[in-house]
Amino acid sequence: MQNTNGEQFLELLSAPKNIVITTHFKPDADALGSSLALAIYLKTKGHTVQVISPSDYPRFLNWLPGQEEVISLSEETKIQIETLINKADLIFCLDFSSLSRINDLCDIVRASPAEKVMIDHHLNPENFAEYKFWNCNAAATAELIYDFIILLGDQHLINIAIAECIYAGMMTDTGSFRYPCTTKKVHQIIAELIEIGADNSKIHRLIYDNSTENRLRFMGYALSEKMEVLGEFNTALFVISAEELQRFDSETGDTEGLVNYGISIDGITMAAAIIEREDAVKISFRSVGNFAVNEFAALHFEGGGHKNASGGKSSLSLEETVEKFKNLLHLYKEKLTTN
Ligand code: 5GP
Ligand code: MN
Repeated sequence: MQNTNGEQFLELLSAPKNIVITTHFKPDADALGSSLALAIYLKTKGHTVQVISPSDYPRFLNWLPGQEEVISLSEETKIQIETLINKADLIFCLDFSSLSRINDLCDIVRASPAEKVMIDHHLNPENFAEYKFWNCNAAATAELIYDFIILLGDQHLINIAIAECIYAGMMTDTGSFRYPCTTKKVHQIIAELIEIGADNSKIHRLIYDNSTENRLRFMGYALSEKMEVLGEFNTALFVISAEELQRFDSETGDTEGLVNYGISIDGITMAAAIIEREDAVKISFRSVGNFAVNEFAALHFEGGGHKNASGGKSSLSLEETVEKFKNLLHLYKEKLTTN
């Protein structure tokens, strides 16, 4: 994929524009942090900017600078959002590269006369945007937002608010700086962000030590009662029903991190969390080593993502999805056990 160069971006943004920034369904810290960092930056450059989310987002993101102005899609906001998207000159699409990931916003964005700019780090991007800033070697979209601001010669405009949004995205997408994507460059950018004034310890606490009592009790329940270790396949599995989510008053984001406990078991190659959501059964995959869960998710569960962290969905029932998953393990037994 050919990226748009700096001059073309400078030209594109040379006069004030009406800009919408959107990101994927159920945004995580990278998705929302990138969107807010870019929004703050573009506003200081004189553009009119609105961040639109295709859904609500976890409570541990409700401190991010500027998040109170985000409009999330709901029955009440649908018409307002449609108008904003149709009136926009430019739509920035952040942290996704397949339009299906913005769910109900997909058709509205596709139909909008606005030009699109994709900034993303996921593999196998779709070609829906006129302008692209894509790099699958970036640890996070937030890293690309940093690069984008540098590319446009505006390093001096990175203030504390932008720095904290970028920090949050890079911290979470690198698993707190431990996944293989944590390069020297990641640490160099992080050092810059701390220099600018991002409070790393505060951000870590706000994101990771922001649970409700219910969430912790749910995690305890899931770990002791719901984790299945399929030793023959080096696989750990959580299956969570809608009733169980309800029992623990589960909120958006409460199941985040569950699947990581599965992959933390010694000798496990793949972990999956199969969760019965309102609209579909959603699945999170994690792996270690060469087992590519993005390919697994793309081939069997309408998904994708990164080699060691991916997701997908299923329109089958929860039970049928689990059966399908377990049957697939036989096909992948060799790969899972010689990883
Ligand atoms: P999580 O399991 O944390 O929800 O998602 C892990 C990664 O998988 C995300 O960063 C994203 O790249 C990818 N991902 C999650 N769900 C989907 C999906 O439905 N489709 C695609 N293409 N990627 C997904
Ligand atoms: Mn990301």
